[in-house]
Amino acid sequence: MGFATKAIHAGQDPDPTTGAIITPIYQTSTFVQERLGQHKGFEYARTHNPTRLALERNLAALEHGRFAYCFASGMSAITAILMMLKEEEHCIVSDNTYGGTFRLFDKVLKPLGLRFSYVNTCNIDEIRSAVCPQTKMLFIETPTNPIMLLTDIAAAAELCKDYGLKLVVDNTFMSPYFQQPLKLGADIVVHSTTKFLNGHSDSVGGAVILNDEADAEHISFLQNSVGAILSPFDSWLVLRGIKTLAVRMRQHEENGRAVANFLVEHPKVKKVFYPGLEIHPQYELAKRQMSGFGSMISFDVGSYEKAAQFLNSVQLCSLAESLGGVESLVCHPASMTHASVPTEERKRLGITDGLVRISVGIEDVEDIIADLSQALDRLS
Ligand SMILES: *Cc1c(COP(=O)(O)O)cnc(C)c1O
Repeated sequence: MGFATKAIHAGQDPDPTTGAIITPIYQTSTFVQERLGQHKGFEYARTHNPTRLALERNLAALEHGRFAYCFASGMSAITAILMMLKEEEHCIVSDNTYGGTFRLFDKVLKPLGLRFSYVNTCNIDEIRSAVCPQTKMLFIETPTNPIMLLTDIAAAAELCKDYGLKLVVDNTFMSPYFQQPLKLGADIVVHSTTKFLNGHSDSVGGAVILNDEADAEHISFLQNSVGAILSPFDSWLVLRGIKTLAVRMRQHEENGRAVANFLVEHPKVKKVFYPGLEIHPQYELAKRQMSGFGSMISFDVGSYEKAAQFLNSVQLCSLAESLGGVESLVCHPASMTHASVPTEERKRLGITDGLVRISVGIEDVEDIIADLSQALDRLS
């Protein structure tokens, strides 16, 4: 079955009681049992909910996983994965990971006794050098946010096999439409469904998808024990969003390429970061492990003042955090999404004060480019 067909149908049979084609929002906290010890597979809605279950089955199918679990946010999904580790155990992390992930690891989980090393995971040897006897997990994001650097997932998976580590891939930026890490050897995929999967900027959620049965039981146990579950209504919104994932991603990518090509040619733009450009240092790897390049682009306009002037001049594009919605959003990573990353570290990662990030939406691309053009032309 093709991707678009699975996106629309996987996990979603017509409602057994009414025939409704759309999985209903099962807005209920409990399920009546027929008699003691006999029920229909649902007991209490933190543990299982039919709307959430439909979404979990759908996501498992799209990521080529056997199991999926949905959470109240991308951060709670990442938290559940890290809770598989015990005190003193060590996790190696992409150094230019999402700001919220860094904050969770550094400010919440490190004080509880987990250990982290942040390395440039673009370089497999740097990962290898960071492995120590306590290392249990490699957590990568590819492409990274906002510099759009890639980690070779298949090579990282091989290294993880050598050392008995679990490879976790945050696949939020590409969505399963363009990148399927489990097929490349990853153990666990995590998503912020808030972004491309839901795609309409109207819900916050997260998901964990994996193949190993023992790990799946552990994540399921954590989902139920910690309780940060995705609500029935949000599950329904994400299911609805995913029905158009294939067509949206195709348009995001077409618009993304056009905007990247426009920015590269523009005299006021110093540098463009987009894996679909031949000048991207990892263009070959991008072609190998992704089936498209997505619509996340960062570019440098030279200084904080120019970035501010640009961001205050756009009219169609909205100044906002987040990404992956149908509408084009622009933001300033240094002061917004990556404000929790220390200044020195931001400098080292290349998150300059002149850097602007755009999540290219699926409006008419001529309108997006006209807006960027008028805002860039105002820069002194
Ligand atoms: C947004 C995001 C997250 C966090 O997800 P929330 O749904 O906001 O909790 C994690 N990773 C990446 C790459 C993200 O873009």
